[in-house]
Amino acid sequence: MKTVNHWIGGKTVEGASGTYGPVTDPATGEVTTQVALASAEEVDAAVQVAKEAFLSWGQSSLAARTKVLFAYRALLDANRDAVAELITAEHGKVHSDALGEVARGLEIVELACGITTQLKGELSTSVSNSVDVAAIRQPLGVVAGITPFNFPAMVPMWMFPLAIACGNTFVLKPSEKDPSASNKLAELMAEAGLPAGVLNVVHGDKVAVDALLAHPDVAAVSFVGSTPIARHIHTTASANGKRVQALGGAKNHMLVLPDADLDAAADAAVSAAYGSAGERCMAISAVVAVGSIADTLVDKIRERAEKIKVGPGNDPTSEMGPLITAAHRDKVASYVKGAAAQGADVVLDGTGYTVEGKENGHWIGLSLLDNVRTDSDAYRDEIFGPVLCVLRTETYEEGVALINASPFGNGTAIFTRDGGAARRFQLEIQAGMVGVNVPIPVPVGYHSFGGWKDSLFGDHHIYGNDGIHFYTRGKVVTTRWPDPSDAPAGVDLGFPRNH
Ligand code: NAD
Repeated sequence: MKTVNHWIGGKTVEGASGTYGPVTDPATGEVTTQVALASAEEVDAAVQVAKEAFLSWGQSSLAARTKVLFAYRALLDANRDAVAELITAEHGKVHSDALGEVARGLEIVELACGITTQLKGELSTSVSNSVDVAAIRQPLGVVAGITPFNFPAMVPMWMFPLAIACGNTFVLKPSEKDPSASNKLAELMAEAGLPAGVLNVVHGDKVAVDALLAHPDVAAVSFVGSTPIARHIHTTASANGKRVQALGGAKNHMLVLPDADLDAAADAAVSAAYGSAGERCMAISAVVAVGSIADTLVDKIRERAEKIKVGPGNDPTSEMGPLITAAHRDKVASYVKGAAAQGADVVLDGTGYTVEGKENGHWIGLSLLDNVRTDSDAYRDEIFGPVLCVLRTETYEEGVALINASPFGNGTAIFTRDGGAARRFQLEIQAGMVGVNVPIPVPVGYHSFGGWKDSLFGDHHIYGNDGIHFYTRGKVVTTRWPDPSDAPAGVDLGFPRNH
C-alpha cells in the first residue's frame, strides 16, 4: 500500500505519530493508500521550519520570487495530466474535470507571477513641507492553509502561490481524503527552485488543524471547507489573534425567468448540478422556476440528466464519477429517499445505481426533485451530491425573496433575456458571486472568490486583490527630508498638523 507522508523543509518527512488515515479509490471502494496524520508536535516542527525560512524568504526580492513562480507555472503546465490523474484516483472526478481544476489553479499561479505589479504600493509626495508618505504592504510570516476534499489541487493553489509571492511561508494541511495532489504540487515547487521550508505540507485531521489554530507562530489562516468547520476555524483562529478567512458551504440557486432560453437553462442546470457529482461549492443545487415554464423546464432537465453516463473517472466515456466515500453516498441517498415524505415529486431517483464489476465503488446516479418545499431537508441542507431540487414561484420577487432567505450566499445565477431584470437581480441578490446566464460564476483569478452569509467568515475573499490584501499587511511611512537650505524646524509640542 502506498503511504503519503509529510513534505517539510523541502523533503519527505515520515509520519511520526504512528497514526494513519485510509485513502480510498472511490471507483472501487478499495483502500489504496494510507496518509500520515500529524500530531501537534509534528505540526509544531513544520511551523518552526516555515518560521526559519521566513527570515530569508520574507526579505527576498520580487525578482527572486517571480523567477520561481514562472518556473512553477511551466512545470505545472507540463504536469497537468499527472496531477489530474492523482485527483481522479483519490477524489473520483472524471479526468477532464480534474484537468479543469488544475487549469483554474494554474490561473492563480499566473496571477502570482504578476506580483511585481500588484505590490507596488502608493506614494504621495509633498504632503507637507519636505514630507512624503509611502504606503507599503509586507508579508505576515507563517500562513496556514486548510483545504477540503473536493478540489485537492485547485483550492490549495487558491492560497499558497499568492501567499508565497507576497513573501510569506506556508504550511498546507490538505484534506486527508485525497492528500496526494498536494505533495505533488509541493514537489513541483521545489523543482521550480523554491527554497526549502517556504512551502510545507502537513497531513492530518482535527488534531493537526487545532494545533495550527493554536500555534503562536502562525500569523494567518486560510480555510475552505464546510460551514460548521469554517465557523469553528474563524472563531478559534480569531480568538487566538490570527488573521483568518474561512470559506464555507453553499446552496446555490439558479433563477429561471419565463423569458429565458429554456434549452440553454436546462443545459446549464444539468452541467452545474451534476458536474463533479455535485461535489462543488459552486454547484447549482436549487433551480427556482418562475411562472408557467416550470413543467417544460423540468422535462428538459430530466431528458438531459437521463443521458449522463456515470462511471469511473479514468474511463474517458464517463461524464460523472462516484462520490468521495460510501458514507457520504449513503447520506446523499437518504435525502432522495426522504424527499417524497417531505412533499417533493421524485422525477429521477439515482439511488441504487452501480457500475458492473465495480460494485463496491461509491456510486449514485442523478436525482431530480420537483416541487421541493423550503422547509424540507433536501432544500435546507447542503447535500453535496448529484441531487437537483426544483422550486416554483409565481413571480421574480418571490424567487428573489426565496433565495435571499437562504442562510448561504455563495454563488447564484439568473437565466433571462431581460437585461433590466438581470441588472435588478445582481443588485438585489444576497450572494458573493452572481452569474447572468452563467451557472457557475467562479471569478477569474484577478477577481476575488467568496460568498456572503454562512458561506464565508472573515472580511477577505480569496485570491485576486483580496488575496493579496489578506496575505500582506499595510504600513505607512511618513518621511521628512528637509531641503538643505531649510532652517531647523525647532521644538513644537503641538500635535503634528498639515494646515
Ligand atoms: P470539511 O469542512 O469536512 O473539511 C475541510 C478541512 O477541515 C479538511 O482539511 C479537514 O481535515 C478539516 N476538518 C474537518 N473536520 C474538522 C474539525 N472538526 N476540526 C478541524 N478541522 C476539521 O469539508 P470537506 O467535506 O472536505 O469539503 C466539502 C465542503 O467544503 C462543502 O461544504 C463545500 O461547500 C465546501 N467548499 C467550499 C468552498 C468555497 O469556496 N466556499 C470551496 C470548496 C469546498
